[in-house]
Amino acid sequence: MITKAELYDAVDEREAELVAFMRDFLAIETENPPGRNYAEGAAFLAGAMERRGYDVEEVRVPSDVVARHYPDRTDHERVNVIGRQTGGAEETGHDTGDDANDGPHVHFTGHFDVVPAGEDWSTDPYDPVVDEGRIYGRGASDMKSGIAASLFAVDALRAVGPPLPGTITQSMTVDEETGGFTGLGFLVAEGYVSPDNTDFCVYTECFDSSRVCLGHRGVLKFHVTATGTKAHGCMAHDGHNAITVMNDFLTRIEAYREELHGRTTDLPVTPVESRHADVSATMLDAGYSENVVPDRCRATFYRVLVPGETVEAAREEIRALMAETESALESDLSYDEIMYAEPTAVSEECTVARTYVDHVRDFHADPAFVVSPGSDDQRFVVNDAGIEECIVYGPGLLDQAHVVDEYVPIEEVLTAAKVMAVSTADLMGVLAR
Ligand SMILES: [Zn+2]
Repeated sequence: MITKAELYDAVDEREAELVAFMRDFLAIETENPPGRNYAEGAAFLAGAMERRGYDVEEVRVPSDVVARHYPDRTDHERVNVIGRQTGGAEETGHDTGDDANDGPHVHFTGHFDVVPAGEDWSTDPYDPVVDEGRIYGRGASDMKSGIAASLFAVDALRAVGPPLPGTITQSMTVDEETGGFTGLGFLVAEGYVSPDNTDFCVYTECFDSSRVCLGHRGVLKFHVTATGTKAHGCMAHDGHNAITVMNDFLTRIEAYREELHGRTTDLPVTPVESRHADVSATMLDAGYSENVVPDRCRATFYRVLVPGETVEAAREEIRALMAETESALESDLSYDEIMYAEPTAVSEECTVARTYVDHVRDFHADPAFVVSPGSDDQRFVVNDAGIEECIVYGPGLLDQAHVVDEYVPIEEVLTAAKVMAVSTADLMGVLAR
């Protein structure tokens, strides 16, 4: 059996190695969009896992699958990485036969794409700086530190042995920042994550080491285009103004927004102001010249769904509003979808959630269950693979995601790694009580 103290020490002993790993990892610019240097990022991670004895596979996404989801970005290669270790300390990784690993299958997953760094950084976002206990660089919090934490958590676990009775899998994926369909979504679709090979899944996204995240709201992003008839402004009677049509639709969207605010959830969505469904008009485009009645007006919308709603039901509601405008103004509206993510949530009573929150208490007196106001890749595991034992837990700070001068406190990464190591030992039944 393994004690907590042994695991905590084993993580602390690896601090310098972990910081060095983070610096190398953050130096690889994996900006998405458009999805740059994924092959280089994947090779770096594959090498790190191979050196640790994982059985590693790089999973390249076929170009037709990329084209289906990201038609503008097919010139960038999509490469995901997956590594698996069986528990036997001496027989690292190569035997995945059923008899060798009948204990639990634990899967850690995280994304290694980052949002574009943008301007105004104090230092180069891809030349990481360590200063006063913090690591600075794009992706420090969201979420290369999550990948580092799970990797070093398993290192600590293996270092203090005994042989683990099950398997540990780590997947590192791309394109989360643009929907994840060619990242974790692809691994799930191809069976790399399924109830057959995964009992417990931890998505290591940034909610900080004090919080266990149970799910997220959903999103539907779309354009609606109104079509009319063009005319000279001095003979507007000959035209049919697409802006007037859109104005009618936007008025209906405002009423719909009020209705959605009444569609609340009891789940612990954080911040509390986000505990309801929502819709916002986010872009508007029309017109050619000040003297032309426009025949086209396009608006873009961001519809947020609470768990319990479905994307298809939201689409139907929007189509109904479009039909109302079409008949009221005798005009045509068209709908183009940009992206969607179904909402998801697991029970705080599930084993993996209870285990993690138990061990978070060693570091934070009052651990919290949260549900994300945005959306992430957890939905693929829960909704598509059908694995209910899946939480989000990772070291990054949510308020550091996507900001200038992004950082992660080193202490955060160490704490999350300790919680992951101890929780994994507990889930596998090898933690001394
Ligand atoms: Zn992220």
